[in-house]
Amino acid sequence: MSGAWDEAAWGALADELARWGQGRASFWWRDDDAGRPARAFDRLLALAADLELSLGLAVVPAWLEPDVAEAIRAAPGGVAVLQHGFAHANHEGEVQPGERKVHPAECGTARPAPVVLEEVAAGGASLKAAFGDRALPAFVPPWNRIADAVSASLPRLGYRALSAFGPRSAAQPVPGLLQVNCHADPVVWREGKRFAGAGATLERLRTHLAARREGHADPAEPTGLLTHHRDMDPAFWAFLEELLRRLRGHPAVAFPQLRSLLSPRPGQPGA
Ligand SMILES: [Zn+2]
Repeated sequence: MSGAWDEAAWGALADELARWGQGRASFWWRDDDAGRPARAFDRLLALAADLELSLGLAVVPAWLEPDVAEAIRAAPGGVAVLQHGFAHANHEGEVQPGERKVHPAECGTARPAPVVLEEVAAGGASLKAAFGDRALPAFVPPWNRIADAVSASLPRLGYRALSAFGPRSAAQPVPGLLQVNCHADPVVWREGKRFAGAGATLERLRTHLAARREGHADPAEPTGLLTHHRDMDPAFWAFLEELLRRLRGHPAVAFPQLRSLLSPRPGQPGA
């Protein structure tokens, strides 16, 4: 099903939330592929402002246009900028042995790590110039893929957090680099970017929460909802608004400030 809401699936998620203490079920919201003007982007910012929610905007440095930069600077302080690669360009040209298709990546193994890192650093500097402190030292690799040799050098460039997809296997994959991923992506990319539906998305959120509570996933990693404002149909928008409204109003749910989540002070325990 792909309806905009699913009361039974919400009921299951609410049952899970009932097992969490007040403000203990931490969530965060990341939206990818920002930088170019779009009605959908304006709608996204309006939604975050309306709900007074923290939002991590993964901005592609090479896409950033002045009107978008201005809109982000005018947004409430809870809207933070994360770095989404450099130009969101795929460099993985050939199918790898044992693979049936190319897995696109900008920061993968196709290019030498120093070449990738030079680009990453340039992108980070441009976001810092555009947004100052609103730009957090957090890196979101396009397609959620990053070569180990690249992530290993991110702390040396000043990055403090890395965000990809799926339950993290370690709070710090590299010393000094905190991993804070997303866990529910409501778009089915291989099926024409269709909305996966309310039921499937709510179930993914419930599954991650339950895994945290039962110790199958890191309990300290907040449950991340991933959106892509450019690729959302009306049912997805309606679902998103309803979901965020309900989560925000639920006593067990907390949306931590992204600055403390993604840019912890030295010595602060991993988010
Ligand atoms: Zn992307």
